[in-house]
Amino acid sequence: MSSFSCPHLNTETTYCNKLNVDCIPGRKGCVLAGKYQFAVPAEERIKKNEFSKKDKPKKR
Ligand code: SF4
Repeated sequence: MSSFSCPHLNTETTYCNKLNVDCIPGRKGCVLAGKYQFAVPAEERIKKNEFSKKDKPKKR
């Protein structure tokens, strides 16, 4: 087993500085895309991430 630390990841916000979106490893344009196979496909995690954002209460 190995670990990976991406140089493009903003660790405070979990934002990808390369793609200017939330970090979802393996998504299109990611340095890992096409190099590794993920247990849950990136597309599925992107959908789940977008869905969970909608559920968050808005700050007032
Ligand atoms: S989406 Fe990929 S390139 Fe961007 S921070 Fe995450 S692992 Fe790195």
